[in-house]
Amino acid sequence: MTADLHVHTTASDGLFTPHEVMAQAEAAGLTYIAITDHDTFDGLWALQDGPQVRTPVLIPGIEFSTDLPCHEVHILGYNIDITHPEINRQIKLIASDRLERAERMVHKLDGLGYPISYHRVLELAGDTAAVGRPHIAAVLLEKGYFANIGQVFDCLLEKNKPAYVPHYKLTRGDTISLILAAGGVPVLAHPGLIGDESVITETIRLGIQGIEVYHPRHSSEQVRSYEFLAASHGLLTTGGSDFHGIPGRFPERLGQFTVPAALTLPLLRSVHE
Ligand code: AMP
Ligand code: FE
Ligand code: FE
Ligand code: ZN
Repeated sequence: MTADLHVHTTASDGLFTPHEVMAQAEAAGLTYIAITDHDTFDGLWALQDGPQVRTPVLIPGIEFSTDLPCHEVHILGYNIDITHPEINRQIKLIASDRLERAERMVHKLDGLGYPISYHRVLELAGDTAAVGRPHIAAVLLEKGYFANIGQVFDCLLEKNKPAYVPHYKLTRGDTISLILAAGGVPVLAHPGLIGDESVITETIRLGIQGIEVYHPRHSSEQVRSYEFLAASHGLLTTGGSDFHGIPGRFPERLGQFTVPAALTLPLLRSVHE
């Protein structure tokens, strides 16, 4: 029995709709799936209507970005109450600032010699509440400025690169508190992408309850060290594919990167404790 506890849809920067993702997850034979779109529950709301799959069991989740001067730290929230008023108020603030930020990035790109249309960014973003860098990257690729999305991020969009603009974010501590207030389990996402062990230990001190040990971009050494870290701090371990459905970005299909379904059980229990 397998699970995938980190999946994006068109509600943020994934390429498949929530219903398409659920159908693919059923075909892949997953027992559990967590949809963890960036800064929005819209994908989970969308799944309340329309065709329902028999399996996998869906765990409501979210992925928040938090900011440090030199690092991006992502925090996942699992088994969370998607009707919780305060978390929904914060999500609205983030969504509206993401829109203004996208416009500021388009202006910056113009000044850097990469003119693109803001209208086209919004068109590609569709009705997502989490307009983001991947949508801007897609327009830059469409215009033929770069050969692949990795190059776009490398040259322009990564944190502290010339076209980067931050959006409104909560601190790590406030993100953890907000997820707990909404009945969820806060988990540190892909620590291997942070690139600084002290940021990880600090986030543990701030009250994170789990570590995303298993992620396609973690080496086997990283996996072993995060397993050890989680065990020594009594934290849950989770994992997922971080599936976006983007061609050329592994995994291209759901089911190509899974974790044992048993990792899901503590996430399900803790909400009822
Ligand atoms: P945003 O939330 O708008 O700041 O954009 C962050 C998203 O951009 C991440 O969730 C990834 O999906 C994507 N991303 C970040 N870095 C890269 C990269 N180097 N290559 C491709 N996609 C990236
Ligand atoms: Fe993403
Ligand atoms: Fe992430
Ligand atoms: Zn993600």
